Amino acid sequence: MRAARFYDRKDIRVEDIPEPELKPGTVAIDVAWCGICGSDLHEYLEGPLFIPAAGHPHPISGESAPVVMGHEFSGTITALGEGVDDLEVGQSVVVEPYIICGVVDTGPG
Ligand SMILES: [Zn+2]
Repeated sequence: MRAARFYDRKDIRVEDIPEPELKPGTVAIDVAWCGICGSDLHEYLEGPLFIPAAGHPHPISGESAPVVMGHEFSGTITALGEGVDDLEVGQSVVVEPYIICGVVDTGPG
């Protein structure tokens, strides 16, 4: 698949990469639309800010640069990972992905 990947400040490359592995608790999505967020622009100009730098894996996801850009997108579910029982293949979805550690108190709301 084609993907825009963040390597480092002012270094985003559009590349052919393997399809991601469908992990338990996740779904595969045929992306219909993906926006470019202001945080993507800041990441490009000033990063790495939120994207874990190469060699410094994120403590929860384990991922680090290069990573696929785009965190506000929509599409259609094409496959369900093990343990996903509240969504269906063919369902239209809108994604705002966050990974919450469950330890840090983010306050009300
Ligand atoms: Zn955003």
